Amino acid sequence: MKLPLVEDELASCVSCGLCLPHCPTFRVTGEERYSPRGRIEAIRQVHIGNRPADASFVDMMDTCVQCRGCETACPSGVPFGHLMEGARQGLSEQTRYQPWYRRIGYRTLSFHRALLIGSRALALLQRSRLVPSRRLGLPERLPLRVPALRPHAVAVGAPRVWLHTGCVMDAWQRDVHAAALAVIGATGTAVTLPERVRGAGCCGALATHAGLVGVARAQAEATMRSFPGEDLVLVDSAGCGAQLKDLGHLLGTDEGRHFSSRVRDIHEWIAEHLDRLPAAVGPRQTVQVAVQDPCHLRHVQRAHLPVRRVLAPFLDLVELDDEGLCCGAGGAYSVLQPELASDIRTRKLEAIARSGAAVVASANPGCSLHLAAAGLTVRHPVQLLAESLGLVDG
Ligand code: SF4
Ligand code: SF4
Repeated sequence: MKLPLVEDELASCVSCGLCLPHCPTFRVTGEERYSPRGRIEAIRQVHIGNRPADASFVDMMDTCVQCRGCETACPSGVPFGHLMEGARQGLSEQTRYQPWYRRIGYRTLSFHRALLIGSRALALLQRSRLVPSRRLGLPERLPLRVPALRPHAVAVGAPRVWLHTGCVMDAWQRDVHAAALAVIGATGTAVTLPERVRGAGCCGALATHAGLVGVARAQAEATMRSFPGEDLVLVDSAGCGAQLKDLGHLLGTDEGRHFSSRVRDIHEWIAEHLDRLPAAVGPRQTVQVAVQDPCHLRHVQRAHLPVRRVLAPFLDLVELDDEGLCCGAGGAYSVLQPELASDIRTRKLEAIARSGAAVVASANPGCSLHLAAAGLTVRHPVQLLAESLGLVDG
């Protein structure tokens, strides 16, 4: 099966194996087939026609969290994310890899109002104990209502930025956006929320990871149209930020590349505007906060250090000793591969326990939901910052 890959990218792996200790699925299984090197070799063999794209191959692809920890570790610069996305795209275009109900699910993310209504219906059913939340990988208590987002008043003529609000995060964790609005407003910067554009909301990250490139492109293009002009687009979800910074690759257009150049992870932006924030309210909190690096912030955006620069003046931070190994959330991974996701998470829970921290700061909705489901107290860094500044209630 010919896969939509760049041959040079596929040939760049020299099978050295230095990435293996950084791969969460290799760490929990110890099997070569669940390692980056094993997966790249399988992709190569399928691509040149030496092996079929059978159930075993699909299993090797599906069990990859797409954390891209292997990319950070690879001395040869193998773009593993592109290889995995190409493999999944080939499978979804040439086989029945993605069943109809999943295709519908990913498309549904384009209809934000329907998503909000569906989320509220699920929240009601949860409270009637009619939904097996844990089995479906849902948060224990979805919000019944989401707060209205109101940008804070700033001086006329103040600089202006956009805030990307997204799809699932906007339905389930809108309080994070509210904290982001408060922090950005406190710097004297005006915030504009995305324009209502048909099909906009989801950036297309989940569809990209599933290999549904057509769906992902439509979602990404609608999202671009909802942020007209040249103002920066701030993103408070690591996964969405990684996607929006790579639209040049997904769309293959100058427009996509230009849009990506306007995207910043919100912590990158706040770190450059720390001097404009007010002083902390009250005594410095003594609770220790462990910073969990979402893979799409650390390995893809390489923008995990600004989280520390933003929080360190206000909170006591502790580092985990697991070298940024994935937590197992991986977008829809924790729902589709619950056993592996749980095994990978166990290693992260052990690292957090060793750190002694009472609170975990995570800048990605998937990671925070996955860790909170294990009983941890998880907050978004902008929530912790907004609370330290007295901008929102703790
Ligand atoms: S992906 Fe990179 S680190 Fe891993 S085996 Fe290939 S060349 Fe080595
Ligand atoms: S993306 Fe993550 S899970 Fe997949 S092969 Fe690389 S390190 Fe392993």
